[in-house]
Amino acid sequence: MSGIFDEPQEKARTQNQGEKSRTDSFLLSLGFPRLKVHHSFDHFDFTLPARRILVIGPMGSGKTEYSARVWRDAKIAIKKGKAVASISTYAGADRRRTHFVRFGIDKERFKDYPEDALAYRGGYELCGSDISQAVDSFELESIIATHPEAGTWIIDEASFYDERIAYLIRNESEARGLVFILPTLILNFRREIFNQAARLLLENSTDIFPLSAYCEHEDCIADSLYTYRYYTVSGTECPALYFDPLIIIGGDKLKDDPKEPNYCTRCDLHHYLPGKEYSFFTLKPLGEAASRGDMKPLLAELSAINGNIEESRLYASLKRLHIDTETPSPEHMNALKVPCIAEKALCYLYAEQNLLSVEQLSLAVNSLGLDREYLSKRLADNRRPQDF
Ligand SMILES: [Zn+2]
Repeated sequence: MSGIFDEPQEKARTQNQGEKSRTDSFLLSLGFPRLKVHHSFDHFDFTLPARRILVIGPMGSGKTEYSARVWRDAKIAIKKGKAVASISTYAGADRRRTHFVRFGIDKERFKDYPEDALAYRGGYELCGSDISQAVDSFELESIIATHPEAGTWIIDEASFYDERIAYLIRNESEARGLVFILPTLILNFRREIFNQAARLLLENSTDIFPLSAYCEHEDCIADSLYTYRYYTVSGTECPALYFDPLIIIGGDKLKDDPKEPNYCTRCDLHHYLPGKEYSFFTLKPLGEAASRGDMKPLLAELSAINGNIEESRLYASLKRLHIDTETPSPEHMNALKVPCIAEKALCYLYAEQNLLSVEQLSLAVNSLGLDREYLSKRLADNRRPQDF
């Protein structure tokens, strides 16, 4: 676009040219655009305009704590005189004036804190009138319009908004030099880009801070970038299968209910994700056959999964990959102890892959006697509500 902010950005880019790391190549391997990758956290530079800064990492990696530090830096910077104001202000927006926007449905999570708190694990900052709440990009747009003096915007969980947010942020930033700090999840439990909004935010960002956490496996202290979804069945950790419903709405409290997932952070080695090959090699083709009118093979596989899992192609696939191999990893097989696997497969084929009609879905549920309540809940979570 205009290019009016190119010069300071170019300066910052040059300063960071030497920074190369494993994280950098990891992000590139995921297809992330080439961005400036930071490794240390200096005090925040309020003189650089027009930045969209993604702060990414798994839960517990300190994304909100990062935001709180920017907040505290701003409180110091704002006390400086006119000379600083002149290099941190453009078109009436002073980047030392920071506004925090919480994602709307997040209220429950921090209900033990004051209304205006920017809360992170281990503490909080009080934001007074410089905090708002939004549920979509339209609400965010009007909040930005009513605070023209704020130059730095911390938007928590930007990936949870609609896709429009990526362009709203880019346009506001290019027009008035606004800086956006975006602490958010970027990868889902499948180690894939969370959603389309996350992808567009990446495409339109200028800077990225990848934060890692310790792997939460009890015998490991490696760096971890991944969110791991698992279920607890009779005290045993059971990894979620690859085709587990993409979205499961629920709090982040630890759950013993084998139908409700838990999350933690794991390194590459301890992030078990069984069933990816099966999902593409077997399950999706069965769904495609159903979409062409041949439902029988899918019903046979779902019936085996539901009634006698050792007869299923899912069992055969996991056994071949994780048991009948030179380096067996039986942990993966625990995924089959989780209830409602046939329901999860249907949710994947219907809500995510759009391969089944409502009639086919009902046919499978009725003929196999599946758990209607579970399936209805998961379909609603994935924005394809359907009652049986
Ligand atoms: Zn580990």
